[in-house]
Amino acid sequence: MLRSHRTVALSLALVGLSLTATALPAQAPVQVPPEANRFSAEVMDISSVARALHWLEEHFEDQVEEWIHINEIPAPSRMEEERGRYVAERMEAEGLEVSVDAMGNVVGIRRGVGDGPTLVFASHMDTVFPMGTDVTVHRDGDVLRAPGIWDNSAAVANMLAVVRALNSAGIQTRGDLIFIGTVQEEIGLKGMAHWLDENEGVADMLVAIDGGLGAISYGALGIYWTIYRFHAEGAHTNRSPGRPHPVRALADAVRSIYEIQIPEGQGGAVYNVGMLGGGSIFNAIPEEASFSMDLRSVNPILLDSLDAEIESRVARAAEAHGVEWSMEVDSRSEAGGTEEQLADRRIHPLVVTAESIYGHLELGNELRPSGSTDANAGVVRGIPSIAVGRSLGGENHTLSEWADIPSALPATQAVLLLAVTLAELAPEPISQ
Ligand SMILES: [Zn+2]
Repeated sequence: MLRSHRTVALSLALVGLSLTATALPAQAPVQVPPEANRFSAEVMDISSVARALHWLEEHFEDQVEEWIHINEIPAPSRMEEERGRYVAERMEAEGLEVSVDAMGNVVGIRRGVGDGPTLVFASHMDTVFPMGTDVTVHRDGDVLRAPGIWDNSAAVANMLAVVRALNSAGIQTRGDLIFIGTVQEEIGLKGMAHWLDENEGVADMLVAIDGGLGAISYGALGIYWTIYRFHAEGAHTNRSPGRPHPVRALADAVRSIYEIQIPEGQGGAVYNVGMLGGGSIFNAIPEEASFSMDLRSVNPILLDSLDAEIESRVARAAEAHGVEWSMEVDSRSEAGGTEEQLADRRIHPLVVTAESIYGHLELGNELRPSGSTDANAGVVRGIPSIAVGRSLGGENHTLSEWADIPSALPATQAVLLLAVTLAELAPEPISQ
């Protein structure tokens, strides 16, 4: 998307609207209705569920091997095809109804017996590492090291293990379980958004398996990525005095943007200028200078007003220096709302049940009204959505990424418990 010379007046009007808005009221303590929790410890004693949980333990070493294997299939965003093929084959081998959509999402449906909610699990298959990155996994005691090993190969392996455990224990749910290996999560949740738009009304609840173990996210951090460019004719340094200068405009714009006061009590916002571009020689005014903006807030109104304010400051700097300007929207991931705005979501059975399961397994059950996973695409579409952790780990999006092996087991068991409690266990068939 490319826009030029958008009127400053419009931006200022938007800013006036909300940057001066009064702070939201302080939050009252949450009253969770007890029936919202669909989990009780007895669920784990139902024979089929106990078998499935035990199966995961028994086959955990296989899961770790598959985790390593998945990681070693390179899958940069938009190049997930080979990894997707592997996931599709494994799902087919487990008897799921498998399809690959136009974007490359791999979708495996495990039909329920009927009369239950449809629960979607999503593990993104893509990584931030370009093709050619060494993704060989090094095992070091209880730790796996490799780019992408934690974010998000761990979750893809967890999801496949859950499918196998459900099958081997003969578990039937009332609702359908849909398992999706999504694409392009790292570049704006594009695969998940596509699937949700193409399958409107299908998902009653969405669980993204992504992020560290210990927190349950039920909101959506809005993230706007934009490139701003300043353009002019350029001139030799000797003829530069007084001439329109893209870099001087850029410098003023960036300084001015960092002077914006973030209003208190509206959910907060952060932003960062992470990339600068332009020019190629010492002795000339460059024809173009650019900077990137990474702007984030859970509050959609604040996000849009800050976005407009940034744009207006760019426009003013351009005008002051007599240069042209343009902007390119790289990606827009919408905000889900502040904690106060998500108060109803906080007490939804999906969130409360997850909190209960993670608490019972002592995995940590910190609830976050934010998040930056495939679940965001559900949150902003009004679908109850959470993100749960895949294992402990760290340094994701760097070459020294690592993941803790043992924690992936309870993380996987928790996903299985979410499936049987929320898609509702069907009565077990009478054995002969
Ligand atoms: Zn991720």
